[in-house]
Amino acid sequence: MSPGGDDSSVKVAIRIRPQLAREQIEGSRICTFVTTGEPQITLGKDKQFTYDCVCDLDNSQEEVYSGTVKNLVEGCFDGFNATVIAYGQTGAGKTHTMGTGFELNTQSEQEGMIPRALRQIFNGVQSRQAQAIKEDSIKPEFYITVQFMEIYNEDIHDLFNPEGSDKIRIHEKEGAIVVDGLKALDIKSYEDTMRLLQTGALNRTTASTKMNTQSSRSHAVFTLNIKQTRAAPCNPDEKENAKKIDLETVSSKFHFVDLAGSERLKRTGATGDRAKEGISINQGLLALGNVISALGDASQKRKHVPYRDSKITRLLQDSLGGNSRTIMIACISPSDSDFMETLNTLKYANRARNI
Ligand code: ADP
Ligand code: MG
Repeated sequence: MSPGGDDSSVKVAIRIRPQLAREQIEGSRICTFVTTGEPQITLGKDKQFTYDCVCDLDNSQEEVYSGTVKNLVEGCFDGFNATVIAYGQTGAGKTHTMGTGFELNTQSEQEGMIPRALRQIFNGVQSRQAQAIKEDSIKPEFYITVQFMEIYNEDIHDLFNPEGSDKIRIHEKEGAIVVDGLKALDIKSYEDTMRLLQTGALNRTTASTKMNTQSSRSHAVFTLNIKQTRAAPCNPDEKENAKKIDLETVSSKFHFVDLAGSERLKRTGATGDRAKEGISINQGLLALGNVISALGDASQKRKHVPYRDSKITRLLQDSLGGNSRTIMIACISPSDSDFMETLNTLKYANRARNI
């Protein structure tokens, strides 16, 4: 695994999953090649791309985490929003990578990005509080809530409150995006949060079974809202007042986005409702690509960023660019039977990275 090094606020990583048993049985060949020591991948003979990080098919969840999400977590304690986005065709490993499947892997080694980030956050909370006690200073207090939603056909569903999804509205309040009507549940521990994640993921599957659809056609967004009250750093000019301590509140949001499958419609041969579904999914993915590339393009900085073109981009408006750090993990299959979809994903990811 090869992390690259620059400081842009949107980073792009590629993750290649191992071949599935079915692909091996069918005799699919591996057509993805990672350059040793470089964040570079070659697809087939000569289609070469460079990203911020490339994880090969034998990289573990821990290695992927260290190369991508780990660096975003500490910023949440200092008021930076963070966003992790999993992109790719259905079956490429998005849910496995994020760790949002309801059949949660109990083996900690197989845990995805969300459980790992949760551990790091709760460890961060504990160590900050322990440090304050050790130094006999004011103990920082944390108030953390979670939300879990699904965007399907441009409608938002609350995965913590499936019956109460009618009144959900996204709006802007003092520069922050707020989702009205979406449940926010208090969490105190890693275990609390994992239970909720599991419940929400199960609701996602149940809902899609009821509607006779596939969860791979919706975007799932798991959000942590972290609010911290701590002693404000003291002003060196006011040393004589050192006994007077001001408190400050620092807030940040951490979104984990498991996007709908990026596969092209014609491959699934969809018609009617399914086709309409395909169009709105592509609208979200297209809008997201446009927003990220507009953010990455210095010459476009003052130009219009099309956040309002879809629900997913509107939702992420205050979490992409600006005071936020974003990593897109584009998941791909290594098999030549998926060559065209993999090429599409690599192109999309490449466009998100530069221009
Ligand atoms: P997606 O969410 O993109 O549709 P999944 O995460 O469901 O894809 O992955 C498809 C299949 O591949 C699942 O059976 C999953 O367990 C397996 N898989 C994906 N990534 C890996 C990996 N890195 N290691 C082992 N198995 C994986
Ligand atoms: Mg999935």
